[in-house]
Amino acid sequence: MPREQLRALQFEKLQKLLRQIFGLNRFYTKKWNDAGVTPDSIRSLSDFRKLPFTYKSELVRAQEEAPPFGINVTFPEAAYTRLHQTSGTTGAPLRVVDTPESWDWWGHCWGHVLKGAGVTAEDRVFLPFSFGPFIGFWAAVEGAKKVGAMMIPGGGWDSIQRLEMMRDLGVTVVCCTPTYALRLAEVARAEKFDLRSLPVHALIHAGEPGANVARTKARIEAAWGAKCFDHAGASEVGAHSFECELQPGGIHIIESEFIAEVIDPQTGGDAAPGEIGELAITNLGRPGFPVIRYRTGDLVRLNLTPCACGRTFARFDGGLLGRSDDMVTIRGVNVYPTAIENVIRQFSTVDEFQVTVRTLHEMHHLEVQIEVVSGNDAEHVRTHVEQAIYHAISLRPTVTVAAPGTLAHFEMKARRFRRLDHAPEPPSS
Ligand SMILES: [Zn+2]
Repeated sequence: MPREQLRALQFEKLQKLLRQIFGLNRFYTKKWNDAGVTPDSIRSLSDFRKLPFTYKSELVRAQEEAPPFGINVTFPEAAYTRLHQTSGTTGAPLRVVDTPESWDWWGHCWGHVLKGAGVTAEDRVFLPFSFGPFIGFWAAVEGAKKVGAMMIPGGGWDSIQRLEMMRDLGVTVVCCTPTYALRLAEVARAEKFDLRSLPVHALIHAGEPGANVARTKARIEAAWGAKCFDHAGASEVGAHSFECELQPGGIHIIESEFIAEVIDPQTGGDAAPGEIGELAITNLGRPGFPVIRYRTGDLVRLNLTPCACGRTFARFDGGLLGRSDDMVTIRGVNVYPTAIENVIRQFSTVDEFQVTVRTLHEMHHLEVQIEVVSGNDAEHVRTHVEQAIYHAISLRPTVTVAAPGTLAHFEMKARRFRRLDHAPEPPSS
């Protein structure tokens, strides 16, 4: 669909949604009344910006106000047929509820994810985990139904049993986290199971980044002899982005079902074209549990150049790039962790690193500590890292070399970035 037509479709769906929920959904009715806007004051997509942002903390409060489901519900309780909730790793779990129509919409969005990865009715899709209240892979089941593929649940087995099941059933597509894809590869190696002999042609990943981190992706693809596809979504939003078969280095946004805005997290205004900003998203097909201009906290870079796959949906280059909470502005430059990580990871001579943003006398300073792989000239590596960071972000950091083994080494959820306010300078090494 030409982009003009796509924008018109978005506006049509938006207007319908706003009218549908105003007056019935307590959360949004109050929010818009407080902001002095009504659905009738939104006459074009640019008017859309008159609507206030929605924050996760508000959804959590809306839930506390009327437990267990909260006040961001549009229909009587009996209209809802599905409950899911977030993992609660960053606070209280957020519960989300769906009507049959909204749940069907989730399946439709996952249909885009699967079709993007080339999945058809010929495929056998394996889901190697036990199902809990996390929404993502339940929606994958619905998506498989949409494309007519066979869905094979793999809960209640250990990893080697799952590998055998995949072989016996001729599984062609696997949906799991990137971490579990690597774990299965490890088990296969230990058990002398030839993973590459499986007819698997695609792995679809969700739940954590990794499928768009070049090195992780390459490791998974080499181990499985299959393409690995990234997908992004959230329980409170929907399954909003997917990677197409051409893998142009980013994910397409399903713009027929979502309105995506890339904003400057500090000002809330639009990020400059091509600049990294925070994703604010509106789901257009979930009137029972809507989010309008929802601040996801995810950093993205919008790319509007046409994709060779023929889809006109815009893309996020490199997938989700990190969290806006981790971004800091230093002398007018927005600095975010993945930008620095991308630079440092080019150096095979650097083992581990730690980035510190130190605020001293109202000024931010960027400090980077690196561990240099033994056998290399540490000072030589240090100078090169310093220059490369300066080249990439136009800020000169202070790079120091840490003694081998002194920086934290991570296995899970790495924390390589920290902020220190008004802290004294470290002793010079
Ligand atoms: Zn594409």
